[in-house]
Amino acid sequence: MTPLQALQKYFGYSNFRHSQEAIIKRVLDKKDVMVLMPTGGGKSLCYQLPAVLLNGITIVISPLIALMKDQVDSLNLSGIPAAFLNSSQNPEEQKDIAVQLKNNELRLLYIAPERLFGKDDRLMTFLRTLNIVQIAIDEAHCISQWGHDFRPEYLMLAGLKNEFPGVPVIALTATADKLTQKDILDKLNLHEPAVFISSFNRENITYRVHQKTKSFDQLLNFLSERKEDSGIIYCLSRKSTEALAADLKDEGYAAEAYHAGLNNEVKAHNQEAFLKDEVKIMVATIAFGMGINKSNVRFVVHVDLPKNIEGYYQETGRAGRDGLPSDALLLYSPGDAIKLKSFAMVDNNAEQSAIMLKKLDDMVDYCQLHACRRQYLMHYFDEPFPDNCGSCDFCLSEFVKFDGTLIAQKALSAVARLKERFGSAYVIDFLRGSKREKIWEEHKQLKTYGAGADISRADWMRYFRELIAMGYFKLSDDGYSALKLTTKSEAVLKGLEKVELIAAQTIEEKEQEEVSFDAGLMNQLRKQRQEIAISENLPAYIILSDATLLEIATYLPQKMDELRLISGFGDVKLAKYGREFLAVINTYSKENGLVSKIDQKAKKRTSKTKSKKPARTSDTFKATFTLYKEGKTVTEIALERGLSPTTIEGHLNNFVQTGELDVSEIVAQEKIPAIKDAVESYGNDKLSPLKEILGDDYSYGEIKAVIAWMNYKQKAES
Ligand code: ADP
Ligand code: ZN
Repeated sequence: MTPLQALQKYFGYSNFRHSQEAIIKRVLDKKDVMVLMPTGGGKSLCYQLPAVLLNGITIVISPLIALMKDQVDSLNLSGIPAAFLNSSQNPEEQKDIAVQLKNNELRLLYIAPERLFGKDDRLMTFLRTLNIVQIAIDEAHCISQWGHDFRPEYLMLAGLKNEFPGVPVIALTATADKLTQKDILDKLNLHEPAVFISSFNRENITYRVHQKTKSFDQLLNFLSERKEDSGIIYCLSRKSTEALAADLKDEGYAAEAYHAGLNNEVKAHNQEAFLKDEVKIMVATIAFGMGINKSNVRFVVHVDLPKNIEGYYQETGRAGRDGLPSDALLLYSPGDAIKLKSFAMVDNNAEQSAIMLKKLDDMVDYCQLHACRRQYLMHYFDEPFPDNCGSCDFCLSEFVKFDGTLIAQKALSAVARLKERFGSAYVIDFLRGSKREKIWEEHKQLKTYGAGADISRADWMRYFRELIAMGYFKLSDDGYSALKLTTKSEAVLKGLEKVELIAAQTIEEKEQEEVSFDAGLMNQLRKQRQEIAISENLPAYIILSDATLLEIATYLPQKMDELRLISGFGDVKLAKYGREFLAVINTYSKENGLVSKIDQKAKKRTSKTKSKKPARTSDTFKATFTLYKEGKTVTEIALERGLSPTTIEGHLNNFVQTGELDVSEIVAQEKIPAIKDAVESYGNDKLSPLKEILGDDYSYGEIKAVIAWMNYKQKAES
């Protein structure tokens, strides 16, 4: 059997993702590998597939008992015999597994590292007698002190290579942090490892940061649009997880709390309930989540500021493992940053404190960012990325800008008059001419006192934030956050430079999902899945993922042969559950007069239903198009509409994609073939490599336009 055939047969997928195929080939050649792939990227398959093809036993080292059970259940359901050994089992069960191992009846054995090198050498002695063909080290970053999850037992794993010299070792992690990556390689003692690094971009996650005002109301507002969805809400303190979970329960949400201070029984119970969708929302400290493999987490909310980007990215990464569109929302207040500063100080370790503070600063920068959030994240992890992802709050927003030079001048001169010694709260009171005692008498004599009384406090606060973000002010780092002028401020004060501010009524465009699936059928499929899950006592997402159900509800397969084409149905699952699901689909289709659309699914594609860009034909697009037809250039339209040129290009591409605008209007005819060629050879998943190949003569805008045109052609031809 080839790897591709095994992928079909056991996992029900027809294409490899990322570098899965190359990684698998390497393992089959008995070579060591290190795999760096984001959460949800498909790491497990990199050792599970060789495990199926190699005639022997694969040992999987994994730090978490909960995760092991999940993986083993899932493998067994797909017809791959696997087991785990851990402290939750009684001697009888363990013996049973030993017998199966001896008889070569298992393909994968999951073990916790501390078991492997326990006090007596019994397990190791036993393993030596078996036909071990592969060793997988999951969550390999646990070996590094630099990582966020250091586990001393992992250091022992360096010894594995001596124990089993000829057996390929595959180390896997989702950590994007370069220092940790290097450390893993240093410590693991691999033999000439090939390192596979995938892009860490999680394209199905939409990143948003909102100013924290009334966090509970903001949260309820967010949740009200996600009533059926499962999600995680991260809080800083244990106490607030419990309080918030209780408040959400009062509002009718199935929420529970999780933190390290709860007793083990409660923790296990809450976690289990979450996996089984009995609890929809887990309100947790960061103690929750590592190894949580639940694929249908639709959102992750941070109600408090995370301490660093690494943690934030890891936590948000728990959303959308199944590849379906998911949300990450962070509620930011500058006060949180000040609170965290004191936590970041490590006693008697100035060097460490400085690192922590720098990381916190980066986190704050991210929150105050006035540019694409995804680009910031990718650059943070040293990955090139274009400046418009199209799916973060910044890229989805249209900002109405106005000339705020006068406002900026007032703010700057107030700060200058106050000798750069006060924070924004005082400066705003001063500008608004507050009569409060707090304002020094001598300040009330100054000319700028009350010069900004016509602007509300809230608006002033926003303007100051923007001015800081644009570099017209910086904050003192003595703990008082006094506003200081910068070299940029001078030009504005002298009237040499204009400042653009964002008007209050800035709106975020709602991303409407393309409703191409049948919601009624989706509900019925979920019900069917839940029934099976309960009767088998397994989490629903292990039976079939949401992505698989969504495909069914989209293509309405009516026969076994058609169902086979749905991503996620391997042979065993098809035989086991195919008929039950077909019955649901047939009945529903008959009642609603629906027929199979499986033909539209030309070829079985990966389950990663690309987060589809909504077909946006709102008025704003039309407005751009009208101006374009009047003969205006992109730059002129951008100026006239107060939008960025990138946004305007995006609007126009929309019309290229529908065929209403010819691509040659946007891209010079002679440039098109080269772009088309590059897209055909390298795909259109990522723009930055295309840009790199094409060079400086080709802009991102031109590349995007050609992609839009190719999409149009493809649709027109099919
Ligand atoms: P990771 O361990 O990297 O976080 P997983 O191994 O849990 O990710 O995989 C995430 C999801 O993607 C799983 O539901 C898995 O079955 C699915 N998956 C993995 N490889 C493929 C593939 N080639 N095609 C489609 N889906 C895949
Ligand atoms: Zn963006």
